[in-house]
Amino acid sequence: MLARAGATLLQQAQARELLALHRLRLGDYEASVQQGLLALEFLDGTGDLLRQSKVHCTLVLAYSDTGLYEPALRHVLAAVETARGSGSALAEFWALSRSSMVHEGMGESERALELGRQALGLTRTIDDPEARFVGLNNLGDTCLIQAQRQSAQGMNVEMGLKQALLLVREAVAVAHAQRHNFYESIARTNLVSILIELGEHEEAREQAGWARCLAKAHGFRSLEENNDAQLAEVARAEGDLDGATAMMNAQLRVAALDDDPALHIKLQQALFEMHKESGRFEQALGHFEKLHALILKRTTETAGIQSQMLINTLGIEQARHEAERSQLDAARLRIRADDLDHQANTDPLTRLPNRRALDRQLPPLMGRSRDTLQPICVAMIDMDHFKRVNDEHGHATGDQVLNAMATLLRAVTRDSDMAVRVGGEEFLLVFADTTLECAEQACERLLASVRGYHWGALAPDLACTVSVGLAELSPGETVADWLARADAALYQAKDSGRDQMVTAVVLSAA
Ligand code: GH3
Ligand code: MG
Ligand code: MG
Repeated sequence: MLARAGATLLQQAQARELLALHRLRLGDYEASVQQGLLALEFLDGTGDLLRQSKVHCTLVLAYSDTGLYEPALRHVLAAVETARGSGSALAEFWALSRSSMVHEGMGESERALELGRQALGLTRTIDDPEARFVGLNNLGDTCLIQAQRQSAQGMNVEMGLKQALLLVREAVAVAHAQRHNFYESIARTNLVSILIELGEHEEAREQAGWARCLAKAHGFRSLEENNDAQLAEVARAEGDLDGATAMMNAQLRVAALDDDPALHIKLQQALFEMHKESGRFEQALGHFEKLHALILKRTTETAGIQSQMLINTLGIEQARHEAERSQLDAARLRIRADDLDHQANTDPLTRLPNRRALDRQLPPLMGRSRDTLQPICVAMIDMDHFKRVNDEHGHATGDQVLNAMATLLRAVTRDSDMAVRVGGEEFLLVFADTTLECAEQACERLLASVRGYHWGALAPDLACTVSVGLAELSPGETVADWLARADAALYQAKDSGRDQMVTAVVLSAA
C-alpha cells in the first residue's frame, strides 16, 4: 500500500497504523514507533479520535517495552484523552489498561492497580470478551507483582495474592469459554506463578502441567518453556533443590533461549541461588558470571534501541516542525498576496474600488444578471466644474471633496451594489438586481444629497453638484457599449445644465 503511487494519505496512514502494530508484535520496536508516529502525523489532522487513540496505545507498548517511560506516558495521556473524546468505552478500556501497564513498568504499583481496576470496571459496561480477559489477567498480574515487591520488604501479602488468584482464575475461565488457547495458556501460566507464591505447590504443579500441554499442543514455544521453568520452580519451592537444578540445567541444554532473554536470566539467577544455598560455590560463580553477561548484554542492547528510538522520534518531530513552519510561510505569503491584490484594486484616496476592480467585477455581475434574468444598471457620475474647486480652494480641498463624495456614494448603495472611482472626479455606480426605475430614484437621492451636503464645512462658499448618466443593460449588449451609453447620457446631463440625471434610452433586443 505504501509503495503504491495512487495511495491516498488516509490509506497510507491506515497502512502505517497496521505496520506499527505488527512491528510491535514482531518485537521490532524501533520500526513500530516510526510507523506509529508517521500515522499520527496524518491522523492528528483528521477528527478520527478513535484511530488516534489506537495508534497512541501501540506507541505506548513500543516505548514501555523498551523502557522509555517518558514518551510512553505522553502517549498514554493522549490515548486516554482521545479515547474519551471519541466516546468509545472500549477504546477507553484499552487506553486505561495500557496506562496501568506503563505505571507497573515504572514501579508505581499503587497507581497501576488503580488504573487496572478502572479498566476492569469499564469491561462490565461493554460486551467484549477480549477486553474482559485482558482486564482480569492484567489486573491479576499487577496484584501478583505488587505482592512480590511487598513480600521482598517482609510484608504480609496473602490478601493481595488471594485477590490475584481470583482475578486470574476468572481470566482462565473467560479464555476457556472463548476457546482462546493462547489467552488460556497465558492465564494458566500466570495462575501457576500465583500458586507458587501462595505455597499451593500441588495445584501449581497440576496447573503448570496443563498449561504446558496446552502450549505444546498449539505451538506456543515460549510459554511452554516458561511452564517448564515453573515446574522446576515448584520443585525448588518444595525444597527439592537437586531436582530443580537438574530440571533447569536440562532446560538450558535443550531450549533455544536466545529468543527469550528474560527466561534465560531467570534460569541463571535461580541456578546461581540454588548452588549458593547448597554450598556449591564454584558452580554458583559460573552461573553468576553468565547471569552478569546476560544482564550486561540486555542493558547494552536496550540502551542502543532506546537511543535509536529517541533519535527517530526527534527526526519525525523535527520534520513536523519544518512542515508547520513552511505552512506558516505559505499562509504569510498568501496574506501578503491578498494584501497586494487588495491594494491594486483600491483607490488610495477614497478607499473605493478602482477601475481595475471594475474591469474584473463588472463582467461576472453582468453574466449573473443575464442568467437570473434580473435587470442591472450603471450610473456614470462626474463632478461639476471640479477644476474650479481646485482652482478656487486648493487641491487639498479638492481631495476632501472627493472623499466626501465617496461617503455619499456609499450611502446610496446596497451591499450588492458597487461604487467605483473610475478616475479623477468621475465615479460609477453599479446597481445589481435593480430596475431602471429604482436606479433612477437612487440617483435622484444622490443628486439631492450632494446638493444638500454641508460643503461649507470644507471651505467657505464651497458648493458642489454632480451630473449623472444612467443606463440599464440591454439584451446582447457588450460592457463597452453599455458604459458608452451611460457616458453619452452623462454628457447630455452636462449639456443640459449639470446637477441632473439623464437616463439612456432602453435598447430593444437585437
Ligand atoms: P465638468 O463639469 O465639465 O466636468 O468640469 P470639470 O472641471 O469637473 O472637468 P475637467 O475634466 O475639466 O476637470 C476635472 C478636474 O479634476 C481636473 C483635475 O485637476 C481634477 N482632479 C482629478 N483628479 C483629482 C484628484 O485626485 N484630486 C483633486 N484635488 N483634483 C483632481
Ligand atoms: Mg471629468
Ligand atoms: Mg467634472
